[in-house]
Amino acid sequence: MKKIITSMRILAVVIFICLASLSVIGQGEAERAKKISEQNAEVVRNFEPKLLLENFLTLTKIPRCSNDEAAVADIIFDLATSNGLVVVKDMSNNLVVYLPATAGFESLPSICLQAHMDMVCDKNPGVESIFPIKLIRNGDELSANGTTLGGDDGLGVAALMSLISGKSGIKHGPLELVLTTREEVGLEGVKAFNCSLLHSKKMFNLDFEKEGVLTIGCAGGGVMRLIMKTPMNDVAGVFYPYKISLSGLNGGHS
Ligand SMILES: [Zn+2]
Repeated sequence: MKKIITSMRILAVVIFICLASLSVIGQGEAERAKKISEQNAEVVRNFEPKLLLENFLTLTKIPRCSNDEAAVADIIFDLATSNGLVVVKDMSNNLVVYLPATAGFESLPSICLQAHMDMVCDKNPGVESIFPIKLIRNGDELSANGTTLGGDDGLGVAALMSLISGKSGIKHGPLELVLTTREEVGLEGVKAFNCSLLHSKKMFNLDFEKEGVLTIGCAGGGVMRLIMKTPMNDVAGVFYPYKISLSGLNGGHS
């Protein structure tokens, strides 16, 4: 019995040490996140449009890789409900926010605006974590330090958040704001979306490459898989296999 009690005491001490270590790690993470948030706020200071960037700063703090959009969907859901708006969230975390027309614009036809909440998550070797995203400003351009920026489609989402917040001052007719999930992995969120939630006859997708450019076309996407059969030959003699890799290039997904 004494042995059992001693073992239990040792186990209790081990659990205590583990919990204490986790708490220290958690504190370190929180401090790191706070520091990056402060630096990001400094990076976008005096940068316009302020409201859009304020919402984008919020998005830099929230993990939102494809298949992990629950947190960002919850934040936008809460933003909508706290502003008294009707919002629907489906099983795939897609959102529809119904934004009534501003005074005097009630007779305009309803328009649907859409953006996707997920982003491509990638980081350079040696970078500890993607979130919070560290912003860098170069003139009029924002980029991220060692990770993807999430500008695709974070800026579209930030624009919709600006409308939802009611602070944009933009006058508009009735709007249906659609925020979808798992776009970057094959438009999976929208495939699960119930289109009968929408009544608009026109939709604008806020996910184009260039600012100020509007593309008119059909919505959708396709995946093509090409398989090529290559003839293989046995080789005689002694050969050494090499694996060739290429890295350190500029570019990548925003
Ligand atoms: Zn996109």
